Amino acid sequence: MGEVLRPERCVVAVDGPSGSGKSTVSRRLATALDGVYLDTGAMYRSVTWAVLQAGVDLADPDAVTKIALETDLTVGTDPVAPHFRANAVDVDAAIRGPEVTGAVSAVAAVPAVRRHLVALQREIIGAHSRIVVEGRDISSVVAPDADLKVYLTASAAARAQRRSLEDATDVAATQADLERRDKIDSSRTADPLRRTDDAIEVDTTGMGIDEVVAHLLDLLNSKVTR
Ligand code: C5P
Repeated sequence: MGEVLRPERCVVAVDGPSGSGKSTVSRRLATALDGVYLDTGAMYRSVTWAVLQAGVDLADPDAVTKIALETDLTVGTDPVAPHFRANAVDVDAAIRGPEVTGAVSAVAAVPAVRRHLVALQREIIGAHSRIVVEGRDISSVVAPDADLKVYLTASAAARAQRRSLEDATDVAATQADLERRDKIDSSRTADPLRRTDDAIEVDTTGMGIDEVVAHLLDLLNSKVTR
């Protein structure tokens, strides 16, 4: 990586489907920018963890919303170690487990849950000078004024391969789960996953992480120095 120009203030929005490389790339980019990192998926996952703990019916949006509003979230933004707590419990491992992964898209489809988390996300973004934010609706809803908007994609096979390596799960089962979540995330009425017209699409299928990060830094430099 060549010289990294660090703008005084910048918001980078990184959207895309599961396994497109968003987390790894966003964390590395935030570190290169000497900025912070916001994993909005981990916020939806932490609320989902609290909903499952409370034992409420996932199909009851009012009950799910009540828990979401009551949950005390601690959102870590250190790109090297972004730790999360929900109601004072360390949830870093639990939010990556199969129960939360299986339930999160249903919780994230509840409009009042989204409104609540989007408001928190905007507060966090406003409190930092350089931040990389990853999710599904960052360019479209959370930070429509972001300095750089990126939409990461990768082939379904590559995405499943990456996730199954990370989570030590079977590739075929992982691919089926990613496809199921992508379908819910893209077809829901409230803030669906979509690429905005002003987002730059980067297909990471054959690319290494360093290559993707260097490409995004180039894009950011050309935007903020123009
Ligand atoms: O990115 P990650 O896989 O951790 O996100 C988990 C889930 O959270 C997604 O499948 C999606 O349902 C939801 N999500 C969302 N909007 C975001 C981030 C995540 O709906 N901005």
